[in-house]
Amino acid sequence: MKGVASRRRVSVFGATGSIGCNTIDLLTRQGGAETYDVVALSGASNVALLAEQAIRLRAKIAVTALPECYGPLKQLLAGSGIEIAAGAQALVDAASEQADWTMAAIVGVAGLAPTLAAAKHGGVLALANKESLVAAGGLLMARCAEYGTQLLPTDSEHSAIYQTLQGRDIAEVERIVLTASGGPFRNWTRAAMADVTPELAKAHPKWNMGERISIDSATMFNKALEMIEAQHLFGVKPEQIEVIIHPQSIVHSLVGFVDGAMLAHLGPPDMRGAIGFALNWPKRCDLPVARLDLAALARLEFEAPDLERFPALALAQNVLRDGGLSGAVFNAAKEQALDLFLAGRLGFLAMADLVTATMERLAAYSKYGHTSYVLDDVTEIDAETRRVAQGLSAG
Ligand code: NDP
Ligand code: MG
Repeated sequence: MKGVASRRRVSVFGATGSIGCNTIDLLTRQGGAETYDVVALSGASNVALLAEQAIRLRAKIAVTALPECYGPLKQLLAGSGIEIAAGAQALVDAASEQADWTMAAIVGVAGLAPTLAAAKHGGVLALANKESLVAAGGLLMARCAEYGTQLLPTDSEHSAIYQTLQGRDIAEVERIVLTASGGPFRNWTRAAMADVTPELAKAHPKWNMGERISIDSATMFNKALEMIEAQHLFGVKPEQIEVIIHPQSIVHSLVGFVDGAMLAHLGPPDMRGAIGFALNWPKRCDLPVARLDLAALARLEFEAPDLERFPALALAQNVLRDGGLSGAVFNAAKEQALDLFLAGRLGFLAMADLVTATMERLAAYSKYGHTSYVLDDVTEIDAETRRVAQGLSAG
């Protein structure tokens, strides 16, 4: 790891979200401003929380993604000496400030540009923002390799796989098995799922997460994104990536090796496990997570996913096979479908239908196959995909 100062310089993007707050909690427990030089913290609409975090951790810079929130943030931080900035470019500028450890926890493809900027530091990039890998995995992985940046997955499944692979050669891996809780509608019929509202879909049975990822878990689009995330992170072939439903969310994922052995990672459903692993890497330190009581758990169940009720998984297999910019199209279509669902303009099951139709429409442009692309290409196809999806949903 290059550039590690005696006091680590850390930045957290998406500090006010679910992952961000868990990260701030761990930084605070590990000494806060006494231990770390906090460079940049970012949020969007929740400026009160952002200001409180920035003062508590004595951050150098506080950035809100929303230009209209600049004034309120400035007022809250008046006299603190903390630099204030707003807008998408300000996020990239803050992410370009040298840091030894960065948490990328903005939600959605909005996190891509700052994540790519942070990948230039040569330190640790803890990645929760899976959309960066789905939309531009080739770009992000190449950027990390070019600058010697250590990418540490902070999705629980991918952290589990990363931990399980420590000291192993990827050539020894036969398959990667991602576990999925199955979400709140695991046992619902397709007919019942048609009437699901955003309120119902937000209530995840096992994990306490942001609104968008909770709904993505209910449709299993989250697991679909994670399949693509795994392909980029671990360099495995599409046919080596499997999904298994595991309602208890205790086994975070498994790796099957060529000799038939499987190694699993177990832990409580608490994101501070994966975040803390990335924060303390390469060491393991005491973390404030519950310890498993296996006797009390008694049983761990597994079942095959139902691709009829959760077509997102089948769509992800196409993306794994097509590569290139197909992930950017998939992610943008999914984000657009989710916006429409949240606005009450699209049904729960219609989200997957719209993503399917959008991907079919854009396949005609045969832009998918591009293997060498830059950020502007991703931004362009993201915008085009949203336009196509909006048109299809209206028409
Ligand atoms: P949240 O919705 O809880 O938080 C999102 C964060 O991003 C907030 O800080 C929010 O600011 C900020 N934000 C929102 N919109 C924008 C924007 N347009 N530009 C910049 N910043 C923005 O999300 P989560 O913490 O749940 O998820 C964050 C990421 O981590 C996602 O990519 C998710 O898939 C991934 N992840 C999350 C897990 C979880 O347990 N929550 C598990 C694994 C992965 P504000 O709140 O101030 O408006
Ligand atoms: Mg996950």
